[in-house]
Amino acid sequence: METGLRPSTACTNGGCRHARAACRQPECYTRCYAHYANRGIKLTVIGSNISWTNSTWNLATGCTKVSDGCDHCYAEELVNRIKTTFKRPFSEVVLHMDRLSHVRKFKPLPSPDGPKPHLVFVNSMSDFWHDAISERDIHRALDVMEDAEGAIFQILTKRPIRARRLLVERYRGPGVGIPKHIWIGVSTEDNRVAVRLNIMRSIRERVGDVVLFASVEPIVGPTDKLDFSGIEWVITGGESGPHARKMERLWLMDALERAQQAEAAIWHKQSGHIRSHPNIREVPSQLIRPADQMRWLREHGWELLPHEKGGATVDRQTYRQLPRAYQEVKAALSLV
Ligand code: SF4
Repeated sequence: METGLRPSTACTNGGCRHARAACRQPECYTRCYAHYANRGIKLTVIGSNISWTNSTWNLATGCTKVSDGCDHCYAEELVNRIKTTFKRPFSEVVLHMDRLSHVRKFKPLPSPDGPKPHLVFVNSMSDFWHDAISERDIHRALDVMEDAEGAIFQILTKRPIRARRLLVERYRGPGVGIPKHIWIGVSTEDNRVAVRLNIMRSIRERVGDVVLFASVEPIVGPTDKLDFSGIEWVITGGESGPHARKMERLWLMDALERAQQAEAAIWHKQSGHIRSHPNIREVPSQLIRPADQMRWLREHGWELLPHEKGGATVDRQTYRQLPRAYQEVKAALSLV
């Protein structure tokens, strides 16, 4: 995406933490929230640096916390960091329904084997099913998503009960189902919120077809009770940021194993912090500094995706799979 902005003057004020040198990279400065915010450019639709999506689409900003996975919410951190743009406290949900029309920007993306769907993370700065967003606005947004060709909408929540109620009201009935390009996801950071997966499965029981996914991120506790049966896509990851909690190797391995048992596609996003790296025990103990530890892992072939925070490989393996529905939507695009 070419913005015409001058990278050499970008990201040096307004709270952005990126070094000036980093902002000379197009993939950095065109995706940097603060870069846009500092110039009064609307934070509506931008390329995302979240590896499992292509863009974010925020019809609301602000949220309230519901479980331990929210403790270091990155959306809250961003709102607090760029106060001049967001202006309101994070706990206040602010609607941006004027951005519905921006859906037309989510065109299919080119690829060597034909157009591929544009992955869109809906409300990365809030929760689509938050009580503060009216049922009318939620249905307006779903209307727009249903009509959008070429995009896959990823709606992730920690509020599956409201999601279930509204989805069942809208889609129940024989042969209705939820369109394949609207994926319904739930965050399950550890065993304590395992019940959220049951709630998601019960959506399928009531409406029929639905693509369900789970984000096990940030993993902050044991995951051996998470049941991914019927879940088509599992995203895993550790916590990043200055106060990141450690992800134990066992917690990650249990989540991966259970996702494999359920035959879900897996996307391990990142380990979040070097001390959560599942292969950190391989690093010689005399290396103390995180940068040295990461370098050692790279030099010894453990790390294949070093640009992800804390690395994104597990035992020299990467997990970058997408659910079958992705290929189905992609195939339909090629027929158009
Ligand atoms: S539900 Fe999501 S957006 Fe809302 S506070 Fe929790 S982590 Fe943040």
